[in-house]
Amino acid sequence: MKLSVLGCHGGELPDCRTTCFLVDDVLALDAGALCASLELDALARVDHIILTHSHFDHVKDLPLLADLMVGRRERPVTVWASRACVKTLQKNIFNDALWPDFTRIPSPKNPVLKLRAFRAGETFQAGPYEVTSVLVSHPVESCGFVVRHGDTALGISGDTGPTDRLWEVLNATPNLKALLLETSFPSEMQALADLSGHLTPRTLRTELAKFRRDGASVLLYHLKPAFVAALKRELADLPVRVLELGDSFEL
Ligand SMILES: [Zn+2]
Ligand SMILES: [Zn+2]
Repeated sequence: MKLSVLGCHGGELPDCRTTCFLVDDVLALDAGALCASLELDALARVDHIILTHSHFDHVKDLPLLADLMVGRRERPVTVWASRACVKTLQKNIFNDALWPDFTRIPSPKNPVLKLRAFRAGETFQAGPYEVTSVLVSHPVESCGFVVRHGDTALGISGDTGPTDRLWEVLNATPNLKALLLETSFPSEMQALADLSGHLTPRTLRTELAKFRRDGASVLLYHLKPAFVAALKRELADLPVRVLELGDSFEL
């Protein structure tokens, strides 16, 4: 399994891009930096996009991607999202007001995008990938995932504050090679992190104590751009790696 980091920040600046990971060039986890990172041909190869939740920094390239893909693909791009997230996308983005309804363009029968809803907690098959969703802790319905292909598994936390269920699922996952884990604010902003459903290095420490990592790499993302330097200083003594744009891994 090849993992490419297209976006790994909790905000956008010239050298920061919002959440977006690419698996084997065909599956995207969140859509915060697809169009900003990939040329047209590479974009057209993305068959599946799995969304952790509906917040803007995770879905923002979906409308732009849809526009670029008209006439470029024979089949729709399948966008997997929780029921609540599908509702939000349909009502607030693809509503023919903010953006055209690309789930019906160029034709309702063969549109550019196909939204597929899953129930949080459900396991589904996205092409060759078996994906287990896990409800995590955030102000809107947000999911972490375990993505399996062959004998390799990859985890992603989604935006979340402290949680137990995700760790139970990860601890029961054989061959987990890496976990993409959010950390957003420095510990001095704990109150804001708790309110907004995010981790700080302080809560990251208590979360990691729940993880039987068994050799899996812990890869941190969603650092808020304004606090990257402070966060890196605070994280220096933890057994984690802070992701950088352009990182790629063979799992
Ligand atoms: Zn976010
Ligand atoms: Zn969020």
